[in-house]
Amino acid sequence: MFNALVVNKNDEGKTSAAVTQIGLDDLPTGDVTVAVEYSTVNYKDGLCIGPGGGLVRNYPHVPGIDFAGTVEASDDPRYKAGDKVVLTGWRVGEAHWGGYSQKARVKADWLVPLPSGLDTRQAMAVGTAGFTAMLAVMALEDHGIKAGPVLVTGAAGGVGSVATAILAHLGHEVAAVTGRPETADYLKSLGATQIVAREELNETIKRPMEAETWGGCVDAVGGEMLARVLGQMQYGASVAAVGLAGGAGLPATVIPFLLRGVNLLGIDSVMQPYENRLRAWERIAKDLPMDKLEAMVHPAILSDLPDLGRDILKGQVKGRVVVDVNA
Ligand code: NDP
Repeated sequence: MFNALVVNKNDEGKTSAAVTQIGLDDLPTGDVTVAVEYSTVNYKDGLCIGPGGGLVRNYPHVPGIDFAGTVEASDDPRYKAGDKVVLTGWRVGEAHWGGYSQKARVKADWLVPLPSGLDTRQAMAVGTAGFTAMLAVMALEDHGIKAGPVLVTGAAGGVGSVATAILAHLGHEVAAVTGRPETADYLKSLGATQIVAREELNETIKRPMEAETWGGCVDAVGGEMLARVLGQMQYGASVAAVGLAGGAGLPATVIPFLLRGVNLLGIDSVMQPYENRLRAWERIAKDLPMDKLEAMVHPAILSDLPDLGRDILKGQVKGRVVVDVNA
């Protein structure tokens, strides 16, 4: 038997989460059984642990949309016992039991071998949020990052923190948007050269285009902020849209696309093919300074998760929460 955070739903539709002992026979089917070492807390995990159940497709459920650990048993020739692996995406932690468990069983196709240069804890300090930040940076690079500051919204959060550190390491000037002025020193320590107050960008757009300012943008916020930012992009610059922490609506006009050739690039980390995942993890190992990654990390254990799930939905988590499932 081993520990897992199990979420149940009662007949009235109310959910509850508790650390529970389960066995290997309880795990869903899959080719590879992994002894999980670390998982993390992402915005989606907050939705899945929370009272509405968010994105959960089956109960009882073990959330945790990512994990890193060691293969314990494998029916797939690509993996053998003892291999270190990482998992993000593929609806794990939503439709299939996830990483908030000392053991997980998944499809071999969903895994990636741990890239050299990262241990399992570092891989989860990155986690889904950091992996997505890397995908966003790669998408901006594919379309060309212009000279001048690159904007990162929701900067003190998980995606924003990692995007800030990667972009700064690559030599870009980074303008970090935050609604928490007390995180300014933290964001500067990650490499941000300019701090932009959330209020400055949260107003509804008055003019569809403003001064050409940003050479690129990683946007974790969406909503009115994204609409405003589109009108401030330099000619031909790109916005990698990652999230909707500030709202799913987009009260924008088509003018920035028509008159400034702005590109809006959608980033999805969930259904990335194996080759793309491998490429992104290899770039992470190369382009994310480990001392900056360490500055983002807050350690947690399984029993902390119900509280942390609430905190992340309120935008109160700074950086990355790494869950040691064996502590
Ligand atoms: P976090 O909660 O860690 O970060 C979100 C940040 O957004 C907060 O820290 C806060 O930053 C800012 N924020 C929160 N609420 C508001 C608001 N109302 N208005 C403006 N800013 C706000 O979440 P993650 O970084 O893990 O995820 C960010 C988004 O990206 C989420 O929507 C998530 O679902 C999405 N996501 C998408 C993925 C994909 O594949 N496309 C993968 C991973 C995440 P600050 O305090 O600095 O202002």
